Amino acid sequence: MNSCFEFDKKINDAAEKAEDMAREIFEKINCTTEQNQRKMLKAFQNARVSESHFAASTGYGYGDRGRDALDEVFAFALNAEDALVRHNFVSGTHTIATALFGVLRPGDTMLSVTGIPYDTLQGVIGIASDGGSACGTGTLRDFGIRYEQLDLLEDGTVDYEGMRSRITPDIRMVYIQRSRGYSLRPSLRCGEIEKIARLAHELAPNCIVMLDNCYGEFVQEYEPTVGNVDLMAGSLIKNPGGGIAPTGGYIAGRHELVELCSYRLTTPGTGREIGCTLGHNRELFMGAFNAPHVTGEALKTAVFAAAFFELFGYDVTPRYDEPRADIIESIMLGGERELIAFCQGIQQGAPVDSFVVPEPWDMPGYDSKVVMAAGAFTLGASIELSADAPLREPYAAWMQGALNYHSGKLGVLLAAQKMLSDGVLGR
Ligand SMILES: *Cc1c(COP(=O)(O)O)cnc(C)c1O
Repeated sequence: MNSCFEFDKKINDAAEKAEDMAREIFEKINCTTEQNQRKMLKAFQNARVSESHFAASTGYGYGDRGRDALDEVFAFALNAEDALVRHNFVSGTHTIATALFGVLRPGDTMLSVTGIPYDTLQGVIGIASDGGSACGTGTLRDFGIRYEQLDLLEDGTVDYEGMRSRITPDIRMVYIQRSRGYSLRPSLRCGEIEKIARLAHELAPNCIVMLDNCYGEFVQEYEPTVGNVDLMAGSLIKNPGGGIAPTGGYIAGRHELVELCSYRLTTPGTGREIGCTLGHNRELFMGAFNAPHVTGEALKTAVFAAAFFELFGYDVTPRYDEPRADIIESIMLGGERELIAFCQGIQQGAPVDSFVVPEPWDMPGYDSKVVMAAGAFTLGASIELSADAPLREPYAAWMQGALNYHSGKLGVLLAAQKMLSDGVLGR
């Protein structure tokens, strides 16, 4: 190997061993990627995507055919009846909020069956931990939508008994979060989500099963909509944007629900008929086309990191050979200095801002300092190699992304090298 980057022999040896361990898993990831890439190509062909779809529209964007074709591509690729894909969604939170406000009505009850939702959604629902500011800002609660929650069991699994006793036909929405977010619970595989959806529909036949699908797209060979999820949403600066979409989100699911969401995104009456695309269509199409592959590369990076850090004695979750439902890897590094060195090393592996040295800071909404690594082409894109680590128990780093496995692996090795030179590698 050439000498652009120098690593200690210990690190090179572990890397070789980790790749041996991961080989069989990489094969499985390749199969999933191939399957999803076929489906994506078919989606493009079915929608008869052509160069004219890349043309920029302005103003109201009436008759923007690219916009409609993009919806069709996503619907097919996500195994959904319909989809709404727009650069106008400013984040994953905005996309999920649009879906919630789109389909819920005053007096409805939303029941989360995967514990407390992702931090930024708590303010949308009106359950922000700071209490006061949660109300009066136009939260779901302000509009008379009730929220209830079933916590996960000790071992991080779903409380099916609790579902049986709590879900009655008065529940309008059963809400599921697929990814672990910044917790250590297992992420939900499609089979598990299907089981939840089936039970929810059995107990409340008219309920909407809604899924926060962030980080889950194209990780498996089919999407949760196949297993009776009525509506799901996610961010285009994660998996489904393929590292190319500069912003945006998608909502996918049953046709009449997606229509309702479109009325919330624009206005009742106009819905999806308006909304100019300003020339972004090409990037969103190209990102979608690359998404299955890029997701596979991020998964390989996570699997490699799991095997590699396990060799140095760290607990990791998921383990390298455990089934995955998202692209996130948590590594229990055990202390502040370890976390800081790790994130600084990951940053050194970035194509953008590699010379920046991340330092812990007091991030709003966290009760401890957080150190982060992100050297991305797209600000905040976590399909690109990135890591976050709150400096508190269990002293874990959450790592995700990599546009290609080779650079992802390099980032992991640089993280280990930085830990070694700081004298904190290995347990
Ligand atoms: C990323 C993410 C979101 C949305 O977050 P944004 O930062 O607003 O894009 C929601 N839920 C989960 C589980 C996520 O990982």
